[in-house]
Amino acid sequence: MNFHVLTLFPDMIRDGLNTSITGRAIKAGILNVNAVDIRDFSDNKYMKVDDYPYGGGAGMVMQPGPVCDAYESVVSNIGKAPRVVYMTPQGHRFTQSIAEELAKEEDLVILCGHYEGIDERALENIVTDYISIGDYVLTGGELAAMVVIDSVSRLVPGVLNNSESARMESFSDGLLEYPQYTRPVEFRGSKVPEVLLSGHHGNIDAWRHEKSLERTAKYRPDLYEEYKKEHPEEFEKNRKN
Ligand code: SAM
Repeated sequence: MNFHVLTLFPDMIRDGLNTSITGRAIKAGILNVNAVDIRDFSDNKYMKVDDYPYGGGAGMVMQPGPVCDAYESVVSNIGKAPRVVYMTPQGHRFTQSIAEELAKEEDLVILCGHYEGIDERALENIVTDYISIGDYVLTGGELAAMVVIDSVSRLVPGVLNNSESARMESFSDGLLEYPQYTRPVEFRGSKVPEVLLSGHHGNIDAWRHEKSLERTAKYRPDLYEEYKKEHPEEFEKNRKN
């Protein structure tokens, strides 16, 4: 999968993704991260890409020309017009299901704003999706873009190896994941739950599901209520028992 990140800070994107699992996938050619410097498309001798907001107010606004030109350079390189995600606190809240949908794309453009944001006309011209990583304001879209790229990448076939991908993850079935344990069997007086040492897969699965339900009810009651609505038979059965 090819990510084309339009940014004023390309090194931040490259440095942030070049390690660990994404770094390995980039080296293996499964992922390609093309960080496009919007400043390269400035028509100003000082490479300026921002200006004062019309109507007054604090801060600077990124000009539409360099943003659209940077996008058009990607389109002409790849020969098609891909989906363009603008990272913005005003967008749809990013979720695992949006990550799953984006992972189906072969090419994805991610646009990072800075300062007070980007001139609306550039957004109207090129953006197809507006995504926020949460209800707070960052100084720029780069960290948000890396969050999206990381979570989308791990859904791209071949990025995770078998031992990493075989597990169920939080949100994959609408619940938070059960607690995990590794060696030693006893740590500071606390033992690994007996059932996990039993080798009985049926009992282990049942225990894990029970723990997932408990955790979700405790930490994410909104998800728990949603799960209950979608699996009435499971709760009906428990009531009868
Ligand atoms: N003035 C803008 C507003 O109130 O909506 C906020 C601009 S913010 C300081 C600068 C840039 O950071 C935005 O253009 C966007 O790309 C990015 N950004 C900030 N918070 C974000 C969030 N929660 N999710 C995604 N991107 C965010």
